[in-house]
Amino acid sequence: MRALENHALYDALALPGCPVCRLEQDYTARLLNHLLYENVNDSTWRDRIRQAFGLCYEHSWMLARQGGAALGVSIITQDILTELQRALRAGHTDPGAAGIWDQLRRTVSQGPRGEPTPGLAARLVPNGPCPICVHVAELTDAVLSTLCANLPGEEGWLAAYSASDGLCLPHFRRALERVPDIRTRDTLVGAQDAIWHRLEGRLREFIRKSDRRLQKEITREEADAWRRAIATLVGERPVSVNHTEGAGAESPNTPSASRDS
Ligand SMILES: [Zn+2]
Ligand SMILES: [Zn+2]
Repeated sequence: MRALENHALYDALALPGCPVCRLEQDYTARLLNHLLYENVNDSTWRDRIRQAFGLCYEHSWMLARQGGAALGVSIITQDILTELQRALRAGHTDPGAAGIWDQLRRTVSQGPRGEPTPGLAARLVPNGPCPICVHVAELTDAVLSTLCANLPGEEGWLAAYSASDGLCLPHFRRALERVPDIRTRDTLVGAQDAIWHRLEGRLREFIRKSDRRLQKEITREEADAWRRAIATLVGERPVSVNHTEGAGAESPNTPSASRDS
C-alpha cells in the first residue's frame, strides 16, 4: 500500500463502521467510474469483462446506478450478448442438413435425461471472475496487511483500532489469515474481543431498556447497536453511488460520504 492509502486506512479508523468495508466501497466506486469513463474501450478490460460475461450481480447493479451509465453499459453488454450468441451457436448444426453420424452423435450426447445440449450450459459458464471483484480483493489484502503491520508497537494503531467499530466478521477472518506473527495476532484478537464485548453490551442495554419506563435512557449508540451488529456480522451495507463527474473525480456522494453514521 502506498503512503497515501496507508493514511486513508488510518483515517477510516476514526469513521463509523468497518474501515476495510469503507475503503473497499470507495475503491469500488472509483473503479466503476473509471470503467465507465475511461476503460470502456480499453481492450484489456473489454476482454476480461467479456470472459466473465459481465460484472458480478453486485457490481453490475452498482455500475447501473452510476450517473450517465447508459452508454458505457450499452457498449459493454452489447459485446457480451454477441459473445453469448456465439456460445449458443457453437456446435449447433441444422438438423435437416446433419448427416446420420451427426444425428447419432447428438442422440448419444443427450445423456440419461435426454438433455438436448449438455455442453451448452457449460459454454454459458463465465471463463473468468468479475474483474472488479479481483481488483477489490487485491486492495482488501493490501489494506489488511497494512493494518496488521501497523497494529502492534508503541507507535502502533492499537488505540485507534480499539476505539473504532473494528473489522466486520468477514474481514476479521481474512485478517487472521494474514497476521505475520503471534504478537500481531494477539493484539488484533484482543482488540476485536473488546470491540465485540462493547457492542454486545450496547445490545444488552437496548434490550433491557426496551421496557417503556426505561426507553428514555437509551443512548444513541445503544439505539444504533442492532444495525451495527448486522454490519459487524456480514459487512457494511452497500451504498448507492451516483457519480456524475468525469473519470477519477471524487464525488460528494462517494460511499464514505453517504454511509450510515
Ligand atoms: Zn468489513
Ligand atoms: Zn464483482
